[in-house]
Amino acid sequence: MSLLIRQGEIVTESERYVADIFCEGETITRIDKNIPSTAGIEVIEAEGKYVFPGFIDPHVHIYLPFMGTFAKDTHATASQAALIGGTTTFIEMICPNRSDRPLEAFELWLGKAQGKSACDFSFHMGVTRYDAGAESDFRDIVQRGVASFKVFLAYKGALGVTDEELYKTLSLAKQLGVITTAHCENADLISALQQKLLAEGKTEPKYHYWSRPPFVEAEGVHHLLAFAGATGAHVYIVHTSCEGALNMAIAGARRGLQVWVETLIQYLLCDQTDAEKPDFEGAKFVMSPPLRSKHNQDVLWDGLLSGTIATLGSDHAPFDFKDQKEMGRSDFTKIPNGIPALEDRVNLFFTYGVQKGRIDLHRFVNAASTQAAKLFGLFPRKGAIQIGSDADLVIYDPTYRGKISAKTHHMNLDYNAFEGMELEGRPHIVTVRGKIAVRDGQFVGDPSRGKFLQREPGHF
Ligand SMILES: [Zn+2]
Repeated sequence: MSLLIRQGEIVTESERYVADIFCEGETITRIDKNIPSTAGIEVIEAEGKYVFPGFIDPHVHIYLPFMGTFAKDTHATASQAALIGGTTTFIEMICPNRSDRPLEAFELWLGKAQGKSACDFSFHMGVTRYDAGAESDFRDIVQRGVASFKVFLAYKGALGVTDEELYKTLSLAKQLGVITTAHCENADLISALQQKLLAEGKTEPKYHYWSRPPFVEAEGVHHLLAFAGATGAHVYIVHTSCEGALNMAIAGARRGLQVWVETLIQYLLCDQTDAEKPDFEGAKFVMSPPLRSKHNQDVLWDGLLSGTIATLGSDHAPFDFKDQKEMGRSDFTKIPNGIPALEDRVNLFFTYGVQKGRIDLHRFVNAASTQAAKLFGLFPRKGAIQIGSDADLVIYDPTYRGKISAKTHHMNLDYNAFEGMELEGRPHIVTVRGKIAVRDGQFVGDPSRGKFLQREPGHF
């Protein structure tokens, strides 16, 4: 059935105007004033609401064997939670073990998602080892539509790569025209600081911060950028949490390096004191890099406003408080890392960014949707409201008022780090390629309609 969205205020990264949108099949086919409705067309009245391009989360973990356990969401639960929150596409990290064959890991992750996701999805290919066999697999994986890599400078011995492997990965990325996303923290420093803290009997969640202070992250960014400079590769720094790391990236960009920065909603709204909460409550807020002191929040908001920070992700990594976070009760290094935010990212960004006057609507759309589409080769199919774009639309109600709670969220998780926070806005209707998937906080779509989005390399 065709869709007609009437009288909404269309907001993209650069435009804002009232018009009707007509969607036929999976795409937007007409944008005009007063498009007549005819029989057999589903009409959505959007007067007083914004119409945004579907939001894109550039950094999520769903299938994730990590720190001796598995992340809690399935592609079914995660994709429906994403859609309810306005995210119509996510890019998941494939995180193989060093001993796994990359092509088999790709098949495993693809198999977990295919036919089980309600929203569209893509992947970043984790490079956790580099040798001749792996290189051949990476070439095949890029050919099959995964036009980005992920490297970890942290998690030594598990996911982390050596400098030689980093150099080879970035050289291949440059040759193939793909971007490399990177977790930037100095693995050796972390390991030394963890051992020192534990030896001093400092085992509580709050010491997680002191095992990875800001200089550990800033050094990681500096380190990555030396290799980006040596290879000419395009790099994207995931989950940037603090001023020191951001400044390092800005300095690299000024030197002419091709570098982009992602931050997370967690770093904008939570801080170090959350992870210091007593009775192990702080474990809910353990992630890497850690939550920072509050002054970093202003720096990150300013970066989003000025564009020195390109994107806002969630780094969704759901581990239950009971049973899973509990694994680290007597040793903070064993707390599974992650603060899940896939469902709430967009609503929190709108509420505390747009409604509080910290960023304008265009920057909001750019950082939460369009910029990711451009960087990762999905634009203008995604991240745009144009004729020919996929009809992924979020008809957004800025007058909605509500509160976040684990009791009502849709992620498969026993807590919510944003528990009790007020929301001023949420999606009224969300469409995926021309079909309604969400109405007022309820998933009403086809749970297996999500498609694997193949991305072409070489769009730089
Ligand atoms: Zn991550």
